[in-house]
Amino acid sequence: MKRIYLISIILISTINSFSQTFDISGHINDFRDSTAFSWVKIELIKDGKVEFNGHSDKNGNYEIKNISPNTYDIKLSTSEYRDKLILNYNLEPCLDNINFFYPNSCETLAAICPYGHEDHIIPILYGFPSEKAFESAEKEELKLGGCIISDCNPHLYCKKHKINF
Ligand SMILES: [Zn+2]
Repeated sequence: MKRIYLISIILISTINSFSQTFDISGHINDFRDSTAFSWVKIELIKDGKVEFNGHSDKNGNYEIKNISPNTYDIKLSTSEYRDKLILNYNLEPCLDNINFFYPNSCETLAAICPYGHEDHIIPILYGFPSEKAFESAEKEELKLGGCIISDCNPHLYCKKHKINF
């Protein structure tokens, strides 16, 4: 009888830990000068799917509610800067403040997706596109980056994982 009781306690606590959700919050800073980075989109990705998302406010603070404990790829992005990808981040309820630096680097990176492959990568073209560029964009041979150019623009895009880098 005692044994059955013990097994049920273990079972119940296992079920609880699976169904338990929690909130995460923290701060996003500019990696160059540590000042607050506002309006950065945060996505928690599991098996290629965005499971949870949020963004930093004007003071760089963010909060994402009701997350399930799991291992996620964390994607930080804005429209003008390159994406930052943090692979296999283990999010657990005991974590309190999770702070990030954004972006990762402003140097020109090799044409390798953060997930490690070299195919499905196309260049990003800035400025007003020519007719030929529009056609190439339609064929997904290049991505149109628009006219807003920052000092840390992404130059490459992975079509498979939708990452600007
Ligand atoms: Zn990729």
